[in-house]
Amino acid sequence: MTGNAERRPTPSNLYSFSRLKTYHQCPLRYRYRYLQGLKEAFRSIESFLGNAVHEVLEWLYAERDRSESPSREAMLEKFAAGWSAKWDDEVAVVRLADEEGTYLRLGREMLDRFHGETFVRDLSTTIALEQRLSTRLSPEVVFTGFADRVGRTEGGRLFVVDYKTSRSEGNDSEFSEGLQAPLYAACILEDHQADEALAGYHYLRHGTTRWRTVDNEKGRALLARFLQLVGEADSAAEYPAKPGILCAWCGFNSICTEAEVPEGLSGGLRIAEKRARRLFG
Ligand code: SF4
Repeated sequence: MTGNAERRPTPSNLYSFSRLKTYHQCPLRYRYRYLQGLKEAFRSIESFLGNAVHEVLEWLYAERDRSESPSREAMLEKFAAGWSAKWDDEVAVVRLADEEGTYLRLGREMLDRFHGETFVRDLSTTIALEQRLSTRLSPEVVFTGFADRVGRTEGGRLFVVDYKTSRSEGNDSEFSEGLQAPLYAACILEDHQADEALAGYHYLRHGTTRWRTVDNEKGRALLARFLQLVGEADSAAEYPAKPGILCAWCGFNSICTEAEVPEGLSGGLRIAEKRARRLFG
């Protein structure tokens, strides 16, 4: 099966960092999701938690911009209300040893730490929250992404920060954290006609932030590298399965014949199979 035949149904020439990360992690999952446009059968609770926490962080800074000082209690109420309102039966607790409450508590802990250690001391100004970034890399390819927060430090330096709810801090490799925030910084350099910007990751489980500086030359090199990676995904002759631990979090694991899902991580697979039975009898 050729890459070109597979790509005909591609709905869009928009390439995000997560799109390419999916290709890197498993080309077959990429094919299902981005080339065939299939919907994953469940959302992992880790992803649900990440969204719920991000919404509250956005709210905190939006409140501050309205000259409010949101309290810790109001923040936690907001989190609990958003959690209940958004929860549905597509959310999967993948690790069977865990339960919904495990993640709810984790979310509260992360926000509590962020509020006490970072938010109340943060003197930076916000330029935009959840800002859609986009830049054309070639006639066929547009890079796109969402920056959690764009702002200026107290000293006036332009920055973009990405909030991470993952268990561990990443490293500088391309599909860990070497590309994502720096690519966003490259976009805001263009948008603001600036010479340099800070690209940061704030790790909510650890309460730490890592920054790096991206100047125009570095920004152009990062965007060129991204375009090269798009070319590799685009010109692939095949999209083979790459089974591994991430199969447990892949919403196609009930239709993929090569999925490897250990019993202890089968919460998502169980939901996917239940939904398939409902659909196909
Ligand atoms: S189940 Fe595993 S091998 Fe199959 S598409 Fe998903 S990640 Fe790839």
